[in-house]
Amino acid sequence: MKKITIAIDGYSSTGKSTIAKQLAKALDYIYVDTGAMYRAVTLFAMRNGFIGKGQENTQALIKLLPRIKLLFKYNKDLGFSEMYLNGENVEKEIRSLEVSKYVSRVAELEQVRHMLVDMQKKMGLEKGIVMDGRDIGTVVFPDAELKIFMTASPEKRAHRRYKELLDKGEEVEYEDVLKNVRYRDDIDSNREFSPLRQAKDAIPFDNSDMGLEEQFERMYNYALRIIE
Ligand code: C5P
Repeated sequence: MKKITIAIDGYSSTGKSTIAKQLAKALDYIYVDTGAMYRAVTLFAMRNGFIGKGQENTQALIKLLPRIKLLFKYNKDLGFSEMYLNGENVEKEIRSLEVSKYVSRVAELEQVRHMLVDMQKKMGLEKGIVMDGRDIGTVVFPDAELKIFMTASPEKRAHRRYKELLDKGEEVEYEDVLKNVRYRDDIDSNREFSPLRQAKDAIPFDNSDMGLEEQFERMYNYALRIIE
């Protein structure tokens, strides 16, 4: 079977990573969650006081970018890769609402995008990869054989994220999560460098009223049609 590149883009909390992970597993492909990379750089910026409540020193962050080492390490027990920032497992911390609040500001920076897009392109050289994010089908892999663009209503997405955060033990309000979803949609779609856009050759995929099983079946079939 030939190996292909699968690009899954879309709005925040559309469940991209859940479906991308399943797809990668079924096809025996590598899965890369590019959001985790932007989140890890944001955590680095927050810890160094470059971004946070009332703080923003993007120049200082840009200067220190070469000191940021990101690594995905496969966790056999969990069945997926976890994000390491300069040798530390930050998987839990990067998923917090606090990091979500600042990540889109950091992801707007041209230098940050350059660094991460370069890394992502290298990861896909051998194909056999499912990558999810915002600019995978447009910028990272414009030649990907399969491109999906996921959408769902902001309320549905906020509900999913709210439940996820509660399950992880974070104390959050639904209204704050909805606000964050809308805020990130706005910045991600309107930023100057590689804004969130549906690639011309991407398949639009609205999963507002679709269960996980149906989503997986559909995507798996899209992939098989190309691979076989
Ligand atoms: O996918 P996730 O919601 O974890 O992504 C977090 C944030 O990282 C997004 O809201 C967006 O600002 C940024 N991002 C991006 N480009 C990507 C992946 C994520 O700008 N390829």
